[in-house]
Amino acid sequence: MRIYAYDQASDKGADSQFAWQKREQLLLAPYATFSKESRGRRFPEELHPYRSPFQRDRDRILHSAAFRRLSGKMQVFTGDMGDYHRTRLTHTNEVASLARTVGRYLRLNEDLTEALALLHDIGHPPFGHCGEDALDECLADFGGFSHNRFALDLVEQIEQRWTAAPGLNLTEEVISGQIGRTDKSRDSLRLPPILEAQVVDAADSIAYDAHDVDDALQVGLISFQQLYKLAIVRRAMEVSDGSVRRPNNERQLLVHTLIDLQIDDFVRHCQSQLADVQELDSQSIRDIGLYLNMSAELESEKRELESFLFENVYRHPRLVEIRLRAATRLKQLFHLLVAYPERLPIRFQEIAARQGVEKAIGQYLAGMTDRFCNETYVSLVELGRSHGEDWA
Ligand code: MG
Repeated sequence: MRIYAYDQASDKGADSQFAWQKREQLLLAPYATFSKESRGRRFPEELHPYRSPFQRDRDRILHSAAFRRLSGKMQVFTGDMGDYHRTRLTHTNEVASLARTVGRYLRLNEDLTEALALLHDIGHPPFGHCGEDALDECLADFGGFSHNRFALDLVEQIEQRWTAAPGLNLTEEVISGQIGRTDKSRDSLRLPPILEAQVVDAADSIAYDAHDVDDALQVGLISFQQLYKLAIVRRAMEVSDGSVRRPNNERQLLVHTLIDLQIDDFVRHCQSQLADVQELDSQSIRDIGLYLNMSAELESEKRELESFLFENVYRHPRLVEIRLRAATRLKQLFHLLVAYPERLPIRFQEIAARQGVEKAIGQYLAGMTDRFCNETYVSLVELGRSHGEDWA
């Protein structure tokens, strides 16, 4: 077996810093979140010689089972509606890409930004928000269900690594960033999230607004004629006026320009927001209550696009029908497993013993991909009924 020896001393200069610490010192703005100031992990670990703590978090998330399962979870459209549209995984990758672009440009911690982006949707149950609503209803007497809270259950308890510690043992900064997503209320008592988390939030919204337009046009739920009534779309068409047009590339051009103009507006506006507080550190930026945002004009045009998508895409009868079927399946699976908890996999029976059967069932169902949920429904519910089971 070949052994790769690593000489830590060669990576540390006279000032005893790792290369990644020096790199951050050189490249990041004072208001960024520095790895060397990390509040650490719940189960303390040695620092890695050539990966910063946030790089390791990113890698742990990327290598987790829950992250891989995002490939089988719907974003807006289900697998049987074609193979063009986004899945929860490709959406996550788009968010990470946009967030890293913005984070790098604003001289924030790009590794932390990427870790937060890869984590942001990891707690989504099968069938998107309708799956979430169904589980929330089933668990109403047991604390309810939220995909943002489930993301924390996954990375703090459910995920299994090669180490003895439960979950992924992520840094406090990544965990706090996710906790910030569980309650978005901006009351005056709450500090804003760190800037890296705010950038991920903005990238999430920019990505889904643009790609939902793309996917809905491609699937045929909306038309260009409808879109042209929206100010942000007219603005995008003006911006892209000088672009080379090919037949049938109107959709791609629109989506590209929608992303481009929103990112451009966001980074420029952020720069002006940060101009007078350049020298503050990450915590002081939170203390003064700074929320990064787009210009008011684009923000309001974006809201118009979002209400359009809400009315014409998310509530489209084709999607409502799929959602209803999915919600019914999840609820029936939930009630069947309450009646027959011994049908849970052993791991979740153990969770049931510690946290209660309903919570364990919620976690089991929430971890499923859309396909696995459908298959489990057929094997448990439909087969059970054909054998005369009556549990509902
Ligand atoms: Mg998202």
